[in-house]
Amino acid sequence: MPVAASIASRSVGPTCHTGKVNSATTRLVTPAEARVDLGAVRHNIGVLAGHAEGAEMMAIVKSDGYGHGAAAIAGACLEAGASRLGTALLSEALTLREAGVTAPILAWLITPGEPLDKAALREIELSAAAPWAIDEIAAAARRTGRPVRVHLKVDTGMSRGGASATDWPSLVKQALAVQAEGAIEIAGIWSHLACADTPEHPANKLQLVAFDEALAVADELGVSSGVIRHIANSAATVTFPQARYDMVRPGLATYGLSPVPERGDFGLRPAMTLVARLANVKRVPAGSGISYGHLYVTDRETTLGLVPLGYADGIMRSGTNRVEVLAAGKRRRVAGRVCMDQFVIDLGDDSADAGDEVILFGPGDRGEPKCQDWADSLGTITYEIVTRIGSRVPRVHSAGVDSVGR
Ligand SMILES: *Cc1c(COP(=O)(O)O)cnc(C)c1O
Repeated sequence: MPVAASIASRSVGPTCHTGKVNSATTRLVTPAEARVDLGAVRHNIGVLAGHAEGAEMMAIVKSDGYGHGAAAIAGACLEAGASRLGTALLSEALTLREAGVTAPILAWLITPGEPLDKAALREIELSAAAPWAIDEIAAAARRTGRPVRVHLKVDTGMSRGGASATDWPSLVKQALAVQAEGAIEIAGIWSHLACADTPEHPANKLQLVAFDEALAVADELGVSSGVIRHIANSAATVTFPQARYDMVRPGLATYGLSPVPERGDFGLRPAMTLVARLANVKRVPAGSGISYGHLYVTDRETTLGLVPLGYADGIMRSGTNRVEVLAAGKRRRVAGRVCMDQFVIDLGDDSADAGDEVILFGPGDRGEPKCQDWADSLGTITYEIVTRIGSRVPRVHSAGVDSVGR
């Protein structure tokens, strides 16, 4: 069974984790699909590695690999030089294990009462930022007889997760005591930056100062100097060399989306192309009101195309009369309301047929909008667009051109 068995069930052209396309499988026709170029992912990991020399790389594949299909993405990242994977939830990490991924995985967002025995048995590393977390992790380790590798999280100024500076020394002491007993191994010390996407923001340097102080406290209390220290997300990886420490944790940039759009694309290549096939094409007279509420009315006789994707698939309703797609060779704006499952485009007098492909966004090679263009016109960030593409849209992975070389 291919390693990425779980994505194969959702992908029309199944791929294994090495990115080789199973050409024996016939492609099903689906109304829409998100094509993911694993060659682009490997290229992006290469670009990031160039910014992170001397540091390990943990590719972040939370939220189903930012909507790109976590198992296939994990395989491509590991192949291209990432050594670890990161997820938010334990369930996401366990899903990767079930798909056959054997690399170290850190899951950092756990709540009291979760099935941590599974984490111990499947060798998932966990984050801890409070006494209850160390207690529950240690209990799972004792029950299973399997010590758990723990990354202690300190809040250095984001005021989200992590132990406060005040609570940090006692958390470290507690972890050291449990480590002495053999239930956990302190594998890492880590934090997260609040303003990395604004490289000039003064909070960035202040957070490193706070991180260094926390590291010094841990060192004084007797934590091994071998622990992995990590704080950098994508934006910090490409703009803030002092934040690299022992490991970087890029997510967004792995998928080829710019973590600091105002500074360009950093040589990254968008991995996802979202396509749909026209479900209906027809001529309508001038004065035709389109979709719910008639928010678009044709000003002449024209041809309409029906795109079978809607807000249930992550096409935000605020894209009504706003976002553009590439259809019949030109950019077209969504005409009228985005519905749950579909929206309409005005093709003018250009010819098109049902079944023709429309590109919603992609790397831009064929003149299609980029995900960044969608984010700009919707007043959001690319993260939100790719992670909201719904489960009805199959992710189709292709090996792509291997720019990394093997
Ligand atoms: C999501 C996340 C990352 C990756 O962030 P990007 O901005 O996508 O690179 C890294 N670390 C943590 C803790 C995260 O939640």
